[in-house]
Amino acid sequence: MEPRDLSAHSVYRAGRGIEEVARELGLDPDDLVKLSSNENVLGPSPAATAVIREYADKVHIYPKSSHTDLIERLADDWDLAPEQVWLANGGDGVLDCLCRAVLRPDERILVPRPGFAYYSMSARYHHGGVSEYYLDEDDDFRQTAQNVLDAYDGERIVVVTSPHNPTGSEIPIGEVETLAEETDEETLVLVDEAYGEFSDRASAVSLVRERDDVAVLRTFSKAYGLAGMRLGYGLVPEDWADAYSRVHTPFDTGELTCRAGLAALDDEDHLEQTRAMVRDAREYLYENLDAPTWESAGNFVLADVGDGAAVTDAAQREGVIVRDCSSFGLPECIRITCGTQSQMERAVSVLNEVIEA
Ligand SMILES: *Cc1c(COP(=O)(O)O)cnc(C)c1O
Repeated sequence: MEPRDLSAHSVYRAGRGIEEVARELGLDPDDLVKLSSNENVLGPSPAATAVIREYADKVHIYPKSSHTDLIERLADDWDLAPEQVWLANGGDGVLDCLCRAVLRPDERILVPRPGFAYYSMSARYHHGGVSEYYLDEDDDFRQTAQNVLDAYDGERIVVVTSPHNPTGSEIPIGEVETLAEETDEETLVLVDEAYGEFSDRASAVSLVRERDDVAVLRTFSKAYGLAGMRLGYGLVPEDWADAYSRVHTPFDTGELTCRAGLAALDDEDHLEQTRAMVRDAREYLYENLDAPTWESAGNFVLADVGDGAAVTDAAQREGVIVRDCSSFGLPECIRITCGTQSQMERAVSVLNEVIEA
């Protein structure tokens, strides 16, 4: 007996863990700066940590009220009905739910290249096919409706990422609307706003309120510092929102996860502190890194260093872990997560040395 043919499936390669790298290099994990996975270097909100401790002795109970409370809270914040909020196991879990609810066997998803790997993985898990549209490096990875439409061929789901990982570019909301207008009635435009908290632009959620063919993805993994809890959510059109109850696994987001999410939403200071740190770090990287960078609306900056893999390896030996962008199709680039002032100073001094070498 064998699994089905998985040869078209790729394996997700996460930025490497700090313990893993420390062990390999024989260094103390505390001496490493990990700037490879766009995590919040300030950690979670202290309020989230406190609530995780508080509820630790209640995890023998299935999560029920916390799930409902969090959905209601998010529905309230976004001015949507509770059925339009799909909680899931990270933003990745949201992609799974949407693929499961929307894709019929052999229907296709249209995704950006360079872009986030899990879009196509999730589509394939759900017996779908994958097509790509291209963001042009020479045009600073600019995102327009026309650029996506040039590649569009009736795919069932079209994904735009704004702010975009790994480039930091954005798509104006008017362009998303044009895209939704110009694609078939049966096509869902999914706007991945995993980095939305770092952007000054309004969320595409206004289109979710007005239309039946736009959905938005958000996550607690980035700005809220809860990547380890696995919490994300989709904001979906009202008309088909009840599909959630038919496609999600029972109790797919844990008790501590939901409680932590609720606490994080209440901690505006932590979010504001995070945003301010990211704004400063982006400016510092643009100004001080000895390599061309792209303006970013996320908590990371893409830089053209010539040979991304070589620079990543050399920086890692000096204790600075950044993301080599070969897997995104940008072998000349690295992506640096925004951190504290001292982390940015250390990262830039190490990177500038190895870029020159
Ligand atoms: C990080 C990320 C996500 C979701 O990550 P989760 O940890 O699963 O919430 C989704 N899209 C993009 C572009 C990301 O970078």
